Amino acid sequence: MGSSICGDIDARPHHVVLFPFMSKGHIIPILHLKRLLLHRRLAVTIFTTQANHAFITESLNDTSASILDLSFSHNVPNIPAGIESTEKLPSISLFHSFANTTKVMQSNFERALQTLPHVSFMVSDAFLWWTLESASKFNIPRLVFNGMSYYSLSISRAVASDRLLFGAELDDELITVTPFPWIRVTRNDFEPPFTEPEPQGLKFEFTMKAITATKNSYGIIFNSFNELEPLFVDFWNRKYIPKAWSVGPLCLAEPPKVRNEACYNYKPIWVQWLDKKLEQRNSVLYIAFGSQTQISPAQLKEIAIGLEESKVNFLWVIRKSESEISDDKFEERVKERGILVREWVDQREILMHESVKGFLSHCGWNSVLESICAGVPILAWPMVAEQPLNARMVVEEIKVGLRVETCNGSVRGFVEWEGLEKMVKELMEEEKGKEVRKKSKEVAQMAKKTMEEAGSSKCTLDLLVDEICGKKT
Ligand code: UDP
Repeated sequence: MGSSICGDIDARPHHVVLFPFMSKGHIIPILHLKRLLLHRRLAVTIFTTQANHAFITESLNDTSASILDLSFSHNVPNIPAGIESTEKLPSISLFHSFANTTKVMQSNFERALQTLPHVSFMVSDAFLWWTLESASKFNIPRLVFNGMSYYSLSISRAVASDRLLFGAELDDELITVTPFPWIRVTRNDFEPPFTEPEPQGLKFEFTMKAITATKNSYGIIFNSFNELEPLFVDFWNRKYIPKAWSVGPLCLAEPPKVRNEACYNYKPIWVQWLDKKLEQRNSVLYIAFGSQTQISPAQLKEIAIGLEESKVNFLWVIRKSESEISDDKFEERVKERGILVREWVDQREILMHESVKGFLSHCGWNSVLESICAGVPILAWPMVAEQPLNARMVVEEIKVGLRVETCNGSVRGFVEWEGLEKMVKELMEEEKGKEVRKKSKEVAQMAKKTMEEAGSSKCTLDLLVDEICGKKT
């Protein structure tokens, strides 16, 4: 077990353990939460594995927290040894096998807990279901960190219980979600296990373990805010356990890097490029599909043609592990108005940039929140997990986005260049785009307020800390 202690555990009256799942999309919001807890004079210890240590350290910035690494030597068929985060998996289909095997860390985790000063509470990712057992052994209240919206989690649960209790099959046709008659979904809105005919599979088993551990925990933390989805917050609180606490949007807990003229040379070239586009104010489409989506070469090609034909300015982040665009003249042809980036970017910095006017996104929940907070409307193109439901929420409920046109007409799937070009233009130049842009600015104001003094998410986190730690923090 490795450690780097830069905190002042003994000087702070209460101590919290944070344990994010090993995916960037899960680590990032928990690190924002860490900042809020430190502001409330709590000492924080973050558990992770060695391969994720550097990413966490970098994000600690000026704040103090301790990091403890647990060894994670798994033995999962098809996953090479040494892979410690989901972004590195050879295929996203191995996600649940990987998540399931995190239990190998349990005994080391418990040994480490014994060495720590009194832990007031633990915030552990929903996927690390086994930490409930550890928390119970040490009498530590466990709060589950949930990286989904109330909307997506409630609909998934409602549909799952219909299916399990009443044997309702999900169809390719739209069906109504029982408690929300205005919401209609199809099989394509869900990942297995809820669409698997056989509920005995590994994914099903894993999901049920995570749900059961969540139910038996002290509470669940949502990276969302009550004003964004009041009906679904209310539904959750009436229908499900444990008690929910809305403390987001956590991306507002710390500002993105602010760079001024004096440090111009340190600006990444893509930010310099966005600066140059300021003269055509608010003109750039930002394109990124999160930290683990794998786009096929055929799909990359369609995106490239769609962007070229749309004639809009664009900044496109392509993951390093992704294939390359087969047309090697593409970048040259579009260089006046487009830039491709193959690095890890500060996405919030890009979204907050005044040049950015729209976001073509896979609708990972963090990306949705970051876009909402920046007041940038979304062109929704969900791929896996709960992204189709997030996309529905963005387009149909909050109305801060439009949806791409897929070939199969459903919420996700292959997109041909013509459909992409059409929707890019609609978002960037036409009336529907204007409407969702206006709504995005309004929702951004709401998001900002909720994290300010007397805002609902700020007060909720205060109440949570007071409830567990007493009022002496
Ligand atoms: N992200 C980033 N730079 C990148 C790629 C991703 O900062 O180059 C961040 C992004 O801002 C978000 C997270 O990684 O906070 C991705 O989470 P999300 O839920 O959007 O998608 P996931 O990666 O989990 O599919």
